[in-house]
Parts: sequence; C-alpha cells; structure tokens
Amino acid sequence: MTAPTCALCHQPITAEDHRLYFQVVGWERARPQGGTNALRCRKRTGQVAHPFCVDRVARQIDPGQGSLL
Ligand SMILES: [Zn+2]
Repeated sequence: MTAPTCALCHQPITAEDHRLYFQVVGWERARPQGGTNALRCRKRTGQVAHPFCVDRVARQIDPGQGSLL
C-alpha cells in the first residue's frame, strides 16, 4: 500500500499524522429558518488531509458564502 497524500497540499501523510481528516460527502436539506440540516448518508471519499491543512482552508472559507472555489 502506498502512503496516502494530503488532498490539500499533496504532501505525503506520515504515520505521525494520526489526527488526519477524512473527506466525506453526503446530503443536506435547507431548513425553513435558514441553514441546513445535519449531513445524511455521510460517506468517506477516500481523500485525506493534514489537520493543519484543513484548519488553513477552514479559515479561508466562510461557510455562509457558498462557493468552495
Ligand atoms: Zn496537507
């Protein structure tokens, strides 16, 4: 098995990265009062990322603004 690489920085993920994140996909529904319900049918995509890379992306993206690009 080859070492996984981080989906965000594309560097290898080593055994020390035990707090790594798993990317998931799922389904959510808009709520009448705004926002969305919890993710249903959550599934891992197989992509993994370093905790610090996820933190960096999370700081750059305002979840209320929509686009991930
Ligand atoms: Zn990374």
